[in-house]
Amino acid sequence: MASLSDLPIRDDLRGLTPYGAPQKHVRYALNVNENTHPIPEAVARDIVTSLAHAVLTANRYPDREFTALRESLADYLGHGLTREHVWAANGSNEIIQQLLQAFGGPGRRVLGFPPTYSMHPIITAGVGSTWVTAERDADFEIGPETAVRAIERHTPDLVFLCAPNNPTGTGLSLETIAAAYDATDGIVFVDEAYAEFMPKDRPTALTLLPGRERLVVSRTMSKAFAFAGVRVGYLAADPVIADALRLVRLPYHLSALTQAAAVAALAHTPEMLAMVDDIIGQRDRIIAELPELGYRPWASEANFVLFDGVDDPQATFNALLERDILIRDVGISNALRVTAGTAAETEFFLRSLAELG
Ligand code: PMP
Repeated sequence: MASLSDLPIRDDLRGLTPYGAPQKHVRYALNVNENTHPIPEAVARDIVTSLAHAVLTANRYPDREFTALRESLADYLGHGLTREHVWAANGSNEIIQQLLQAFGGPGRRVLGFPPTYSMHPIITAGVGSTWVTAERDADFEIGPETAVRAIERHTPDLVFLCAPNNPTGTGLSLETIAAAYDATDGIVFVDEAYAEFMPKDRPTALTLLPGRERLVVSRTMSKAFAFAGVRVGYLAADPVIADALRLVRLPYHLSALTQAAAVAALAHTPEMLAMVDDIIGQRDRIIAELPELGYRPWASEANFVLFDGVDDPQATFNALLERDILIRDVGISNALRVTAGTAAETEFFLRSLAELG
């Protein structure tokens, strides 16, 4: 068998290994921040009916502009947004890729604040852009001054913020986002994959969109909507941003089946989001109980908890795996991250940790 080094592959890809969380078949998969609640059966039935219609016309290419889906997503987001403000792709990872294809590319710099979502630097590298970083404040926060100082130092073409931040769960203030916007002429990208889990008094970056044509807010149906397997991510921004992405997207990138499934699910938004409050309750229980077990959780505005005080993260990870629980080592020393799922999962996770002593 040939090896990659025999191929005329891009120099910057030589020696790299593909990224991806381990996919293990375990009873308790709490490692990739999915919504572990199943889709309600009545909703699933409606989705299947819509899919059947889409299959019957699958000989034709899908709506290249996914108009119905953008309409449904704009309705869902509210904030006065219309379908012209919305753009969708196969997961928010593809949204990020398209954004970087249009506004990044070779020779351009993308500023991020690690620890943050691991795909941000990877997609940046994939389009040939340079990932530059700045430190966060205490407790993984980013204050307005910190953001502005980093932008003045690095003069990036894009600023990547993640709110709430993965893997820490940290929230981000609108003051920081607005200050970052004013400090740059580039694109300010706010990844709100976990927005539905934020406290009710935490405003979304969507409220900042009017008058800020370089601000882009992305969301996903993978988390709160329990739709990770379907692959639907989307952004809200000035309509001119969608015009830019039309220049780089592949024609018909969203299949007719994806569009049909997502529109059907969005028609059942209240049922689809019924689990969110429960998940927030599980997250808060994990945060409340971890200190009793000798661990220090960080505050989280998302559907996962990062906790410190793990003497040997690899040993704890493996001991949990032996009990059929998969969590995540996110490369932060003495810390691990766990997804908040169902009450049964929380119970089993906490009991198992207690047994490890
Ligand atoms: N952004 C963040 C912050 C995430 O944590 C994830 C998934 N883990 C994504 C984007 C990508 O999700 P998807 O491609 O499924 O929309």
